[in-house]
Amino acid sequence: MHDLSIGDLLSRLAKGEVSSVELTQHFLSRIERLNPGLNAVITLTGPQALQDAAVADRRRVAGERTPLLGIPLIHKDIFCTDGVRTSCGSRMLDNFIAPYDATVVARLKSAGAIMLGKANMDEFAMGSSNETSFYGPVKNPWDTTRVPGGSSGGSAAAVAARLAPFATGTDTGGSIRQPAALTGVTGVKPTYGRVSRYGLIAFASSLDQAGVFARSAADAALVLREIAGFDVRDSTSVDVPVPDYSASLSTPLKGLKIGLLKEFFTGLEPRNEMLIQDALKIYRSLGATTVDVSLPSLPLSVPVYYVVAPAECSSNLSRFDGVRFGYRCEQPKDLMDLYKRSRGEGFGTEVKRRIMTGTYVLCAGYFDAYYLKAQKIRRLITDEFLAAFAQVDLLVGPTTPTPAFPIGAKVDDPLTMYLNDIYTIGANLAGLPALSLPCGYVDQLPMGLQLVGPHFAEARLLNAAHQFQQVTDWHRHVAHGYE
Ligand code: GLN
Repeated sequence: MHDLSIGDLLSRLAKGEVSSVELTQHFLSRIERLNPGLNAVITLTGPQALQDAAVADRRRVAGERTPLLGIPLIHKDIFCTDGVRTSCGSRMLDNFIAPYDATVVARLKSAGAIMLGKANMDEFAMGSSNETSFYGPVKNPWDTTRVPGGSSGGSAAAVAARLAPFATGTDTGGSIRQPAALTGVTGVKPTYGRVSRYGLIAFASSLDQAGVFARSAADAALVLREIAGFDVRDSTSVDVPVPDYSASLSTPLKGLKIGLLKEFFTGLEPRNEMLIQDALKIYRSLGATTVDVSLPSLPLSVPVYYVVAPAECSSNLSRFDGVRFGYRCEQPKDLMDLYKRSRGEGFGTEVKRRIMTGTYVLCAGYFDAYYLKAQKIRRLITDEFLAAFAQVDLLVGPTTPTPAFPIGAKVDDPLTMYLNDIYTIGANLAGLPALSLPCGYVDQLPMGLQLVGPHFAEARLLNAAHQFQQVTDWHRHVAHGYE
């Protein structure tokens, strides 16, 4: 049952071959059995899930048909969930019970989906390996001595281990695509503004975007349709119609123009490059053509990101002061002591590193040299992307430089850790939609193919990914022990 697509599950539910209560129970049992070895789920909402599933079953009998009625899911613990702990992977919010639902959560609820629990993540979504979580690292189902990627590593590992048919995630610099690649699942980061950020705990507001982990592009299309769309409560949400992503999945790719970014292929590890070249052969056989394109400023995307993202996070995280919500230190001497110790004890090392960097680049004496300069280069990168999309429909390349690495291998070396996102950060800086799908193995570990599209071209990305998944079966492979 856990290996069926969302479409198949919906048709079984419709025929009465399975109930949502049975389905929910099935996934809850898998979580109980398999999660102790993975640490992917940090809050389980089993009793509530079973109640919600029973309601979904009654609605179905009464003839109601919401799009995801009775389908279980797991939310990244960055989304506020009414009445349920929303920790953001941090000691700071370990005691925080959200008083309302994020828009993504509310929309999935009204689509009929059933929340099984909340997924582990890097603290405040800062990380590429899930090792910065207050709740400990998540293990990769393909090799439990290795990381699943981050920051949405819990969501990715949960979908890879078939603990839920789909999961939500967020991507500020690669946090959906990179863990999707490292765990062999399909991950979609929509256009900035496509999905509401209301109720999503902010890391870097001009980069954060919510999206989906699923086992295939077809499943992701069903979910994205539900979470996308204008929201008055998010001032950066864009009011453009949401297409029926499923309807365009089968459009033939004949005539599709794929751009190959010179900057993505220079220095690419030969075994990684071979997988990408094999994928391109498949695209050509499906009728696509490929042309070389170049974005000369793209190699600056990692340094630009590590100025802009910390700057925004230092401002966003100033609200965690020990007064209004979250962790408060024991017996503060005075107000200053309360602030200092609450923040000092509540935040982990990586978060503090980012806050320090962020306040530094924003301070009056250095603002022009760092923040302003970074914003200018960000604009150049965006313009170069837009120029490329005047020539091509999609850009195709690798999602990550390497497969999943051993837990602990990069924790003491932040710069090496930051380079994990070398291929993903560009899309965030430019606000573009991008997707990662499994395309083969290096050292028996899954690798991802990345597709990047022009603004609001999610339908095209999902179509291209689905066509690839019609003629390949990488996305059907399951790690040993989780079949
Ligand atoms: N790994 C990147 C970082 O640590 C991206 C994280 C993300 O997308 N949330 O900032």
